[in-house]
Amino acid sequence: MTKDIKKHKIETPKERQNRHKAMEAIKVLNTIKEDFTQHPKAMNYFYDLYEKVHCKHESLHDDKAKVGTMCIQVPSEVIYALDAVPVRLCNGFYTDDEIGSDLLPAKSCPLVKATVGQFASQNFTDKPDVIISPTTCDQKAKSGAIIEDMGYSVYDMEFPRTKESAESREYWRRSVRKFTKELSLDLNKKLTKKKLKEAIKKVGYAQYLYHQLNSLRKNSKSPILGKDMFLVTNAFFFDKIDNWMEAVKLLLKECEQRVKDEVNAAHKRSPRIVYTGSPPIFPNLKIPLLIEQSDAIIVADETCSSNRMFNDMVSVDEWFVNDMVDSVADRYLKGCTCPIFTKNNDRIRRIIDLVKDYKAEGVVYQAFAGCQVYEMEQRSVLMAMEKEKIPILYLESDYSPSHLGQLTTRIEAFVESLKNRRRKQK
Ligand code: SF4
Ligand code: SF4
Repeated sequence: MTKDIKKHKIETPKERQNRHKAMEAIKVLNTIKEDFTQHPKAMNYFYDLYEKVHCKHESLHDDKAKVGTMCIQVPSEVIYALDAVPVRLCNGFYTDDEIGSDLLPAKSCPLVKATVGQFASQNFTDKPDVIISPTTCDQKAKSGAIIEDMGYSVYDMEFPRTKESAESREYWRRSVRKFTKELSLDLNKKLTKKKLKEAIKKVGYAQYLYHQLNSLRKNSKSPILGKDMFLVTNAFFFDKIDNWMEAVKLLLKECEQRVKDEVNAAHKRSPRIVYTGSPPIFPNLKIPLLIEQSDAIIVADETCSSNRMFNDMVSVDEWFVNDMVDSVADRYLKGCTCPIFTKNNDRIRRIIDLVKDYKAEGVVYQAFAGCQVYEMEQRSVLMAMEKEKIPILYLESDYSPSHLGQLTTRIEAFVESLKNRRRKQK
């Protein structure tokens, strides 16, 4: 009798959602591992990490206060210095996107819907103790208020919409100072000179390791595919920073050897792509996977779930707490190329530089359906690429597993056009 009851135990909604998320994660991990050969052995750390967190729901940060961050603009150096861990809440699960769809307008950004959906269903592996919501894009700002209404503790961190002026710099510095003070009170931890200096150095070293690894993709035979690089950088959202750095060091060593051995992760004729636009976040790696399944290789990216997280180091003149906090603030404003700014020439400059430095032959620009700023900014990016004679493909997508056929056709046609272009140039 007891056995029968156990066998027919009814799944709770939370268990069902977790099962669906685990299935989503496994499907993508299997594609990443099995549809491609030649991945570096050191990638196994990252494959196992995603399985542990997203399929087995094993917590990584039981012993620490967790500060949930709604956007990359929240300075992780300050969080580490206060003995807490940053956990980025930007979410790539379609299961959560569907839950969020019941709470937000149908035309909202899937990333925002998925983030709100996760709060509604409370299916966290590492539940945040406090949530920091920078007022970057409108949808993020409004969703912070919705999450607060659900009973979570949300702190709004004011962010300027222009970047070049002295006023916006000062405004943002004040905002970071206030955030530092409030978080210190909330966590009941004092920010010391020693701890902040250590945290700046640690995050700086993580940035350095990333750039070392990333620069290997400049080789004509890239040792690593873009889909793997997205996994590495996305893991920075939630992994223990020391573990992440150790794993990247091993990967770097292996990739350096692969460069010496002339191992090519792609085919000889695979066109080289720079990826930009709305951020690919695991398991929504739909577009990067379609690109690499279509015989192209992503050699660089300009997105906030990857390369942009490691932009610009903190540059400190005086190692006093207040100076360090201001220097941290500067790093985050200077490095931001999100289209929420009125003008965003830095982003265009960076894409062009990436194309040149990584010898890319084309750009793929993805905008999430419902993300007005990325949709609007495509016009200026397309014009700039046209001027530089850089082929670009603009795609609109969401988290839904449908419409794959249409996207595949467009990506394959673009990859073919790049191959033809190369033939003609010879
Ligand atoms: S797209 Fe912009 S607003 Fe959204 S998480 Fe990235 S940096 Fe933040
Ligand atoms: S993709 Fe667009 S709407 Fe979504 S978080 Fe980024 S800027 Fe905001």
